[in-house]
Amino acid sequence: MKRSLLAVLALGITPPVLAQSDATDAVVLTGATVINGDYWIESASIIVRDGRIECVGEPEACSFPEDAEIIDLDGHYITPGLVDAHVHFAQTGWLDGRPDGMQAPDVYPYPETAAALSANPDRWHAAYLCTGITAVYDVGGQAWTVTSDHATDTDRSDRAHVRAAGPLITHASARNRFFLGEGASDQLLFLPMEDVAGVREQVRYLESIGAQAVKVWYLAPRPDDRDRLDGLLMEIGAAADAAGLTMIVHATSLREAKMALRAGAAILVHSVSDQPVDQEFLDLLTGNDAVYVPTLQAGPNWGRALASVAFAASALIDDPNGCVDEAIQARINAPERMPSDLISPAWAYRSLEGNGAEIALMQQNLMAVFEAGGRIATATDAGNPMTLHGPSIYREVEMMQTAGLSPQAVIEMSTRGGAVAMGAEDEFGQIEAGFVADLIVLSEDPREDVRNFRSLTHVMRAGVLRAQSGLRVTQVD
Ligand SMILES: [Zn+2]
Repeated sequence: MKRSLLAVLALGITPPVLAQSDATDAVVLTGATVINGDYWIESASIIVRDGRIECVGEPEACSFPEDAEIIDLDGHYITPGLVDAHVHFAQTGWLDGRPDGMQAPDVYPYPETAAALSANPDRWHAAYLCTGITAVYDVGGQAWTVTSDHATDTDRSDRAHVRAAGPLITHASARNRFFLGEGASDQLLFLPMEDVAGVREQVRYLESIGAQAVKVWYLAPRPDDRDRLDGLLMEIGAAADAAGLTMIVHATSLREAKMALRAGAAILVHSVSDQPVDQEFLDLLTGNDAVYVPTLQAGPNWGRALASVAFAASALIDDPNGCVDEAIQARINAPERMPSDLISPAWAYRSLEGNGAEIALMQQNLMAVFEAGGRIATATDAGNPMTLHGPSIYREVEMMQTAGLSPQAVIEMSTRGGAVAMGAEDEFGQIEAGFVADLIVLSEDPREDVRNFRSLTHVMRAGVLRAQSGLRVTQVD
């Protein structure tokens, strides 16, 4: 069973299509409760034509086209497709995709891993659609993540929408600049942040390859180097603005997050996690209309992966719908035992222990941003170790709900909120006439508990409806 499904995927045969709208034939979904952000319509009808939503409302609000294919979804729940606003196509979901985090080239030969990733971005697209994710923001990777057709030709119904930032600008240590030797610029993952002329050149380079954002990896600088680096961050913001590119910043400490916002950041791609956010931060965030992206699980998942190789014990894979491919499962289920000079058991254990307090603080900061009226988008940081492309979004929304958000608020942040982060709030993320027909069907009500996103039965992307069972890449126990 497993083998034959994989063989079908390997042959490139698309999973069975239940219904497909085109210019002449419409598809009508009837009977489900349609949940669109914080309001809903019971027993709704959705008419889809040519990949777009033509009408949505109570049955009498939409007259059914004569030759429409009618799909009865009575008793089900429909939301817009999920959006993961922070992923990395150039990372695997295991330690082999992060040579800056664990340098073990004999065990994890990154050039080979990188080549395999760039050759097959559809591996992650398959995982996303299988999970119910119909759009993703790739916030950092080699140039191919921007230039390959997976990022430029995203109207396909068998792929998620993609927006991509490309290589990151950073002042972090020199070893982080290159993973493929001193190779060509198209193989760099990091671009140096050294002087004014240099950072302007990096922004021009990103613009030239078609990057849709300028991403800065801004770790807390040494106190004696703060002023210089803060100045360079301001320069990057100005250059990005002049080039018409969004600046997005990794800044997990409060001081650096504020600097990023002063420099014009439109998205903070992680939580502030070193201390509680204050009013000045909230004013800067809302003043910029910036999007706050919590990524609550990525840190704890790093701890799980490191403990896994420190103790040679496999971590649990949370994949209720069969969306994680066998190659990554094999890596996780048979972890290499790393020597203690690379990862000491004591350090691995402490990294697990430290997580609880950090999550609590991140959840507290998420609520402070929410209560201040800040924009929030759901995101996983998928591709990092144990943060698996696709199903990790289920745990992310559950952690957001645990922080104190209502299910409705989390649904909105995971659909329209992500579209706002991607600059596509007029295209997708809502079930409204004129929007791209990206939606998911659930058998359980997510307004009761966002855990019910796990009860995915169908996925519609660009007007093509598929059963979730046909999107699985492995068997579900
Ligand atoms: Zn990331």
